[in-house]
Amino acid sequence: MTNLPCALAAAVVAGFALPAAAAPAQTFQTDAGAVTITPIYHATAVIQAGGDRIYIDPAKPAKIDGMPPGDLILITDVHGDHMDSADVSALSKSGTAIIAPAAVQKTVAGARVLGNGQSTMWHKWKITAVPMYNITHMQPSGAPYHEKGRGNGYILAYGGKNFYFAGDTEGTPEMRALKKIDVAFIPMNLPYTMTPGEAADAVRAFHPDVAIPYHYKGQDITKFRDALNGSGIEVRLLDWYGEN
Ligand SMILES: [Zn+2]
Repeated sequence: MTNLPCALAAAVVAGFALPAAAAPAQTFQTDAGAVTITPIYHATAVIQAGGDRIYIDPAKPAKIDGMPPGDLILITDVHGDHMDSADVSALSKSGTAIIAPAAVQKTVAGARVLGNGQSTMWHKWKITAVPMYNITHMQPSGAPYHEKGRGNGYILAYGGKNFYFAGDTEGTPEMRALKKIDVAFIPMNLPYTMTPGEAADAVRAFHPDVAIPYHYKGQDITKFRDALNGSGIEVRLLDWYGEN
């Protein structure tokens, strides 16, 4: 818990109390001002910029008790570690926008649907949905854990910077073809997404400035960092699970 004071200080700057285990907030400068991204747990994070608060994938067991409502909630997929309608309600207020794929909107009825490849503007953000799916890691039945077209990764463009939350995916051709990503949040866990080595290979292909593992429970994320040694990509290992 040696990083506790630092984490708490970051939480105070971010404007609300976070669980003590939360990783420190990451702040990025853009032409429209600072963007602060704070891991909450696993795939759940909060983004603050320009007075707006955006939650990504608020879902249990991320502890959102006491957190203020969001201005926007983004949801990537239907699985329980990404979508929880009770948590979405708890983080909603009058005027909260919700953006999600159609499969999610069946459960989270207030969501505005964004499909793979589509973009929309919300305040100063341009939000683009990127396909997220399995290409090699399948269920015993042979079906993918994530079928192409159901879920969305998101590119969030703000002030000239592009922030990419990949969702539950492998290194798809669509991911590998991405351009000008400044900060990429990349999943790595089996059997649902990909190994740290596969993730590093995909990240090398589109070469973001900064790569941050998330959604990595049970994996050795130092393998991801080590595989990108010498690539020129800055890897930031954050504790999304309160394990350190
Ligand atoms: Zn997941």
